Amino acid sequence: MKYALVTGGSRGIGRAISIKLASQGYTVLVNYQRNEAEADKTISTILENGGVAEKLQFDVSDKNDIQQKLGSWIEANKDKPVEVLVNNAGIRKDNLMVMMPEEEWRSVLQTNLDSFYYVTKLVLQGMLLKRYGRIVNVVSLSGIKGLPGQTNYSASKAGVIGATKALAQEIGRRGVTVNCVAPGFIKTEMTEGIEESQFRNIIPMQRFGEADEVAEAVLFLASKGASYITGEVINVNGGLHT
Ligand code: NAP
Repeated sequence: MKYALVTGGSRGIGRAISIKLASQGYTVLVNYQRNEAEADKTISTILENGGVAEKLQFDVSDKNDIQQKLGSWIEANKDKPVEVLVNNAGIRKDNLMVMMPEEEWRSVLQTNLDSFYYVTKLVLQGMLLKRYGRIVNVVSLSGIKGLPGQTNYSASKAGVIGATKALAQEIGRRGVTVNCVAPGFIKTEMTEGIEESQFRNIIPMQRFGEADEVAEAVLFLASKGASYITGEVINVNGGLHT
């Protein structure tokens, strides 16, 4: 059995990624924070399509929770190494820097960047032992270009891109790749308050993207075929480059 872990698999981009990985024969561990009903929907869709999936609740911003719940799962399932890890869970709390309370800085950095360290570290050991693994980090155009009102979010995503490039060099010879996918504007709950019509003109493809379109790029980087690609960032943004 091949296992894949998708953080934030309950909704949006993470759901689309979970469904696609399951279609490739992975047993998908669908992580979520608090939205169990949505995680159940992801699982039902996978089961309806003949796939296999399990729920795995933990808060990616909380290192103790990760250690306790993901750590225990890994400990109890030593015969089921996670072959694919998709660090997808993320939040945004936009504010101008001068107005930004420390809590908004900390919570975004903890959820989007610290989680990369704590989750990846736990899963990486098994990959290194097996000499095979695929790590895909969902970052953002904001982490490349920087967007006003998103100093916290841009810093968190830029941090993951830097860590990806460093880790890729550390583990390349062990058969484990680590890459990023950087979406632009994608239609999910995260962008619900953003009016598509106001941004159409600056996007060459003149529309927001679908979660499925991001998931396709993740699926490719998670595949065996992407064996000579590491430390890379694939933009999925309709041509909205920096
Ligand atoms: P979304 O629809 O808001 O879904 C967020 C997902 O992350 C949910 O599954 C949520 O779980 C989970 N999550 C949030 N905080 C968590 C935590 N502390 N622990 C565990 N899970 C947590 O967001 P999305 O648009 O799909 O975004 C997915 C990723 O793409 C994020 O990293 C985001 O930064 C990135 N991204 C999105 C866009 C876009 O336009 N949508 C653009 C660029 C990058 P619950 O359901 O339990 O709350």
